[in-house]
Amino acid sequence: MQRIREGVYLLEAGRTVNAYLLESGTGLTLVDAGPEARADALIEEIEHAGFHLDDLERIVITHAHADHAGGVAALLRRRRVKVYAHPDDIAALEGKEPMYYGRGPWGWLRRKAARTEPLPMVVPASPRDPIRGLPHWQVLHTPGHTAGSLSLFNPVHGLLLCGDAIGARNGKLTLADQLVCDRATAVQSLELLASLDVEVLACGHGHVQRPRAWQKIETLLGKKTLAR
Ligand SMILES: [Zn+2]
Ligand SMILES: [Zn+2]
Repeated sequence: MQRIREGVYLLEAGRTVNAYLLESGTGLTLVDAGPEARADALIEEIEHAGFHLDDLERIVITHAHADHAGGVAALLRRRRVKVYAHPDDIAALEGKEPMYYGRGPWGWLRRKAARTEPLPMVVPASPRDPIRGLPHWQVLHTPGHTAGSLSLFNPVHGLLLCGDAIGARNGKLTLADQLVCDRATAVQSLELLASLDVEVLACGHGHVQRPRAWQKIETLLGKKTLAR
């Protein structure tokens, strides 16, 4: 576990997939839960760091992909809490629609490899439906990677948790690896994120980017090479 700043921690049990733990006066919030196969390791990581699963109050899923949502069902078996996601990804999380992994053979292969148990009763979160108990975090709709991708932004600390709306690889930001399902929408989401004063950027994959992460987001946006 890595402390990003006071009350915000990066969980590393998902190996190549990041999850985040937020500590506030209203208990613990888990943002994403890694893949199903790493769920026990994630729970262990939380408990070894001295946190108690009994203090977990809510889980926020940045988007409906198995590498981020696969671990949620196992956590819910340990502690029943509310699970939040953007309305446009809820049907996929509840197993009422297939998760979307893009078109073509790669999309097909990824969908085939993805393992997730359908989740019961996911609660909508969006700019219009802020998350109860997370008053300092703005919910942003940042579609493109999936239709219901969401990001969480803490304007006081300039801290952005963006799921897979942006990827971080070798110290550089990218859209290329992000299996973008709708590229034009993804670029619009990037424009929204570039308009924020992001000091620290915490993506769904790769290292945390700081300081002045907004500069890197602007550079990515300015690139004409946003194509694959
Ligand atoms: Zn994803
Ligand atoms: Zn991912």
